[in-house]
Formats: sequence, C-alpha cells, structure tokens
Amino acid sequence: MNKHDPGSCDDERGNCKLCGHPFDPHLIIAYDVNDLTKGGEMRCQVPDCSCRQTLSFDLTDKEWVKKLNSLLKPPS
Ligand SMILES: [Zn+2]
Ligand SMILES: [Zn+2]
Repeated sequence: MNKHDPGSCDDERGNCKLCGHPFDPHLIIAYDVNDLTKGGEMRCQVPDCSCRQTLSFDLTDKEWVKKLNSLLKPPS
C-alpha cells in the first residue's frame, strides 16, 4: 500500500498529479478560508498550463492541513 494520501494533489515527488509540473507553483484557493470543509480549487501557474481542479480538503490529514494553511496564508 502506498501510504501517500490519495486525496492530496501532489505525488510523492511533489509534482502535480494532473499536469506533472512541480506542485510548488500551484496556487491553492479556498472558497472560504474560515471553513475549509467548503473546499476550494487549485490552479497551475506555469504559463500555458490549463491545469485546474476543484479540491475537497481532507482535514483529517494533519500534514496536509498544515501545508494547506501555509499555502493559504503565506508568512508576510
Ligand atoms: Zn501545470
Ligand atoms: Zn497541475
């Protein structure tokens, strides 16, 4: 069994499962940052890439939530 969370959008190398670009330049947008259960969407920021997918956040995955929070609220 692969222990990597199948609900996350990046593979074990940190690349997007859809377009294969590094997950890092992907932009994650929550529909409601105060209620992540509403889900959100992710877009690739690589020029000419039309990768876009809706997300349902798996809030039971603490690592993912931590990552999500850092993506949504980057330190200023
Ligand atoms: Zn892409
Ligand atoms: Zn992508």
